[in-house]
Amino acid sequence: MDESKIFEEIRKCENEIVETYRTLHSTPEGPFEERKTSAYIAGRLGAAGFRVESGVAETGVVATLGRLTQPVVALRADMDAMEHEVDGKKTFIHSCGHDAHSTMVLWAGEILSRCCPQAEEHLKLIFQPGEETGLGARRMAEAGAVDDVAVLVGIHLRPATECPFGKATPSLQHSASLTVRYRVTGKAAHSGRPHLGVNAADAVAASALAVNGIKPDPLLCATVNVVGLQAGAGPAGTIPESGAIVVNVRAENDDVAFELLKKVDGAVLHAASANGAQVETVSVKHTPGAVYDPGTVAAVKRAILKVLGEPGVIDRIMTPGSEDFHFYSQCRPQLKTAYIGLGADLTPGLHDPRCTLNLKALALGVAVLVLSVIELTNQGA
Ligand SMILES: [Zn+2]
Ligand SMILES: [Zn+2]
Repeated sequence: MDESKIFEEIRKCENEIVETYRTLHSTPEGPFEERKTSAYIAGRLGAAGFRVESGVAETGVVATLGRLTQPVVALRADMDAMEHEVDGKKTFIHSCGHDAHSTMVLWAGEILSRCCPQAEEHLKLIFQPGEETGLGARRMAEAGAVDDVAVLVGIHLRPATECPFGKATPSLQHSASLTVRYRVTGKAAHSGRPHLGVNAADAVAASALAVNGIKPDPLLCATVNVVGLQAGAGPAGTIPESGAIVVNVRAENDDVAFELLKKVDGAVLHAASANGAQVETVSVKHTPGAVYDPGTVAAVKRAILKVLGEPGVIDRIMTPGSEDFHFYSQCRPQLKTAYIGLGADLTPGLHDPRCTLNLKALALGVAVLVLSVIELTNQGA
């Protein structure tokens, strides 16, 4: 494989890569509504000779270059924009870089189709909807998008504080996230006779303080936060009968997160019970923490090394953010994965409606993805 030919081809296309990004950036669409985005991607891939399947999990796109042979190596991008309120108006903005991820995966596919005929029979491209909802990856997996995939590689831009421009990691270690909602039930009464009731507002407040008293081991990179409280909205003359408390737990892996969830359960139960109220769990939303395959991470690391050199490689970055990417391996446990964090000097930062990037990161990301596919197919994935 002549890598200099690949670098030369990407260098020649750098302006076009930025153009693609600008096109996608100017078409921000909400989760499962990425119709123009997916139509554009499907059109480009079709013109480049890919077999394209559109409408997977509503707006997802899956593309291959022909009959696949194992190991199948898939690159995954997300397409959805985030909802923001700007000047009092709700609007969608690409503030999480998904337009950049789609650009890089699209161009990696095009460059591989032009320069690497030997990678063609192993390559699959997956563009998923709705990452921000936590549902897109699961629905793509349930639609069969990764049934024939041996290795799946994702990519996300990073702010300079985590990974500056010119550097990348093959192992962006997303946190496990658990969001649990409890219903708290007391007993209504006249507020002049509170001793005859059980005040759900008191129980909810006591539960919040109890949850705040949980102190995760600081070495475990974990946080516990009360993110929602509600009790009573009726007349001021009544003791509220019902309320709710919502708690988010983040930790570096699922085991630590579920251990903390037990403590949260206990804190809410005991604090509410001390006030005479009943508690039940209404829902638990779980986004799995990252678990990567060492061989896949090593292959992607070699690709980063070739593109960015020794100073450009960061072995592993721990991030408190979570990612629905990890539902692919949860749905298909034998799937091998790695996830690239690419330095792009995001400013002011992710999920900020003013978020901008260093556009030179796009071509670097394309090169890292192209060489990752080559490394993975060469090593037999
Ligand atoms: Zn995001
Ligand atoms: Zn994102």
